[in-house]
Amino acid sequence: MRCAIYPGSFDPITNGHLDVIERARKLFDEVVVAVAHNDEKQPLFSLKDRLDLLRQTAGKIDNVRIAEFEGLLVEFARKEEAGAVIRGLRAVSDFEFEFQMALMNRKLDTSVETIFLMPKEEYTYLSSRIVKEIARLGGDVSGFVPACVAKALSTKFG
Ligand code: ADP
Repeated sequence: MRCAIYPGSFDPITNGHLDVIERARKLFDEVVVAVAHNDEKQPLFSLKDRLDLLRQTAGKIDNVRIAEFEGLLVEFARKEEAGAVIRGLRAVSDFEFEFQMALMNRKLDTSVETIFLMPKEEYTYLSSRIVKEIARLGGDVSGFVPACVAKALSTKFG
């Protein structure tokens, strides 16, 4: 079975993440969407809330599983017997950091390959950060995130 890990903060999940998940699941038998514990960024949503929102959205898609992990991504990939890590690339601005991470992960474990997927054009300007900013300022985010996420954001900022 070919398994891939899609790691991230998912604070919160957006339609851009879902686009990447839909592409990845066509390439693999199973895609594990994994929320990192050791997040140095101060997340808006707790780990539990991020997992709940993922379960209500990505978790409903065939051959997609939601998980959480602590520590090194390559160790988690090994534990899950996953041969690939999926990352989304939106623009050149994502490239430098992603390139460094991919090569470092390869150094740590040569058996894990990083695969970059590009979302539909309309999602290239979408990020969890910008969605939170719009919601905080009272804007309408319903076109950018699933309905349960829009609701959770309006509860936070309402
Ligand atoms: P991280 O904190 O690991 O960057 P994110 O949840 O912000 O976690 O993103 C997880 C992955 O999804 C990253 O590879 C990121 O580039 C990608 N991603 C985020 N938003 C989009 C989008 N709109 N289109 C494509 N990929 C995206």
